[in-house]
Amino acid sequence: MWHDTGTSAWVTPAGLTVQPLGHIESAEGKRRIRNLVEVSGLIDHLVQLKPRMATEDEVLRLHTREYMDRIKKASDEIGGDAGDLSPFGHGSYEIALLAAGGCMTAVDAVLDGKVNNAYALVRPPGHHAERTTGRGFCIFANTALAAVHARQSRGLSRVAIVDWDVHHGNGTEHAFYDDPTVLTISIHQDNNYPPNSGGIGDTGSGPGVGYNINVPLPPGSGVGAYAATFDRVVAPALRAFRPELILIASGLDASAMDPLASMMMTSDGYRKLTRTMLDVAAEVCGGRLVACHEGGYSPAYVPYCGLAILEEMAGIRTGLEDPLLELLAQFGGQEIQPHQEAVVHQAAKLASGLQAPA
Ligand SMILES: [Zn+2]
Repeated sequence: MWHDTGTSAWVTPAGLTVQPLGHIESAEGKRRIRNLVEVSGLIDHLVQLKPRMATEDEVLRLHTREYMDRIKKASDEIGGDAGDLSPFGHGSYEIALLAAGGCMTAVDAVLDGKVNNAYALVRPPGHHAERTTGRGFCIFANTALAAVHARQSRGLSRVAIVDWDVHHGNGTEHAFYDDPTVLTISIHQDNNYPPNSGGIGDTGSGPGVGYNINVPLPPGSGVGAYAATFDRVVAPALRAFRPELILIASGLDASAMDPLASMMMTSDGYRKLTRTMLDVAAEVCGGRLVACHEGGYSPAYVPYCGLAILEEMAGIRTGLEDPLLELLAQFGGQEIQPHQEAVVHQAAKLASGLQAPA
């Protein structure tokens, strides 16, 4: 919560023509998930895991020494920018290590059978971070580093990452683009952020061809388009790939209330997607499912989406209701539309061609 993204006008650096305002990637959305989990009583049913920092060697699996040193140096001074739109303050280096390490802690707890599944509520987010630069509020590639941890430190043969953050998981895609042992699936708003990234034709390279699936849904997609994507693309791809662990890059910015995208998901929509993920995980990998928090910029609504996901993962209904669900669920276009259907159809073909690597 102490990661300081400083002053800007949401995402635009403040200046003589831009009046300062808080940065949009703030602690508030995450803190309010935590608070709602407490107020609802769900927390009494959860096991709380104490995160550790990722080690330098662990981070160097996906980032360069030069990049790490640059972040550390700036963080020891007054902060800086990790690259493109990734401002940070004094001490953010250690907090970013804690975010990456927290995702590894969650993976270990699930693999060791301490918990059935886990949600790592961390920030800064990670799925835009590249080998040599931060992007889109991200510093280190948390979810991707957790996947490498599962592969290299825990010896798993196959790991899948399902990224339902509304923006393209470019960093995750790049980390495993030629790697057939980590299946990466990103469901995102077509060409939102990063620009010109996440096309449906980007399926991997070399031995990794076929093991990267992008589903660039049109703006305006609602629960119907997301549910169809999970039923017809994500679930079949996971069944074919047979991962030993499934990670979710869990951005909650596809909600109808989010200011950084134009989708129409609801808390109940996230509940449905979580149900699908739990069912597939039970089928293919003994229920081993770890969600790593990514984006989500409506502090008012993100908590209800987070609570729905956590309730589903814990198998408990607290009875605390989402006060906006009825309104958002009746928005026009919540059911799948023909132009959305066309994208899901195309992506389903990619999923049906998938096989587990030899
Ligand atoms: Zn996002």
